[in-house]
Amino acid sequence: MAKKVTIDDDECIGCESCVEICPDVFEFDDDSTKALVKDTATGEEDCIDEAIASCPTECIERED
Ligand code: SF4
Repeated sequence: MAKKVTIDDDECIGCESCVEICPDVFEFDDDSTKALVKDTATGEEDCIDEAIASCPTECIERED
């Protein structure tokens, strides 16, 4: 079953680290200046763990 990836908008500082590491899952939203999880993300992408580890505010979560 697909894992759900979420970003806590209140904590995201828009550093774009996750977008650079894992562009299949994360995209930068110019309007909110924060990262978004793409609708096409499955939650299984290999780079998600790296993106979670690199997030300076630890605001990315994945439900198993
Ligand atoms: Fe936001 Fe974290 Fe992504 Fe940076 S790495 S844009 S703080 S979710």
